[in-house]
Amino acid sequence: MEGCFACDLTGGRLPLPGGTIHREAGWVVEHCLGPLGIGTLIVKPERHVVHVADLTDDEATAMGPLLHRAARVVTELCDPDQVYISLWSHAGGVPGHIHYVVQPVTKDAMERHGAHGPKLQMAMFEHDAPPPADAVEEFAELARRLWGGSVR
Ligand SMILES: [Zn+2]
Repeated sequence: MEGCFACDLTGGRLPLPGGTIHREAGWVVEHCLGPLGIGTLIVKPERHVVHVADLTDDEATAMGPLLHRAARVVTELCDPDQVYISLWSHAGGVPGHIHYVVQPVTKDAMERHGAHGPKLQMAMFEHDAPPPADAVEEFAELARRLWGGSVR
C-alpha cells in the first residue's frame, strides 16, 4: 500500500539500508531503521496487514519459525544477553502495518541506558541514535549469509 512506511520500504519507494535480508512465505526480514541498535531486525508480512488476526493461516504458520530463525541469527551475530521480540504497530494510536521487532539486547546496552525491557526501548528512542548506515549494511550482509547457512 503506497503511503505506508513499511510497504514503501519493502516496495523500494524509500531507501532501506541493508536491503532485504530474507523473504519467505509472505514475510520479509529487514534491518530496523530506528534507534534500537545494530542487529535489530524487523519481521513483517509483505502484504499490508494491520492486525495479527488478519494474517492468513499460511502466514501465521510461517511466523513462528521465522521469528525463531531471526532470534538465532541475531544471537549468533550479537551474542546478546536476551533477544526481545515485540510488536506494537500502533503509530500515533492508529493501527499500522504489523512488524515484529527482533532486538538483541546486550549487557552493554542495558548499562549504557540504565534500563531493560520496555524502558530500555523507550530510553533508546529518547536517545534517538540510529546505527550508521554502513554498520547496518555490514550486519545485513552477515545476516543474509547466516540465514541460509547453518546457524546452530
Ligand atoms: Zn503496509
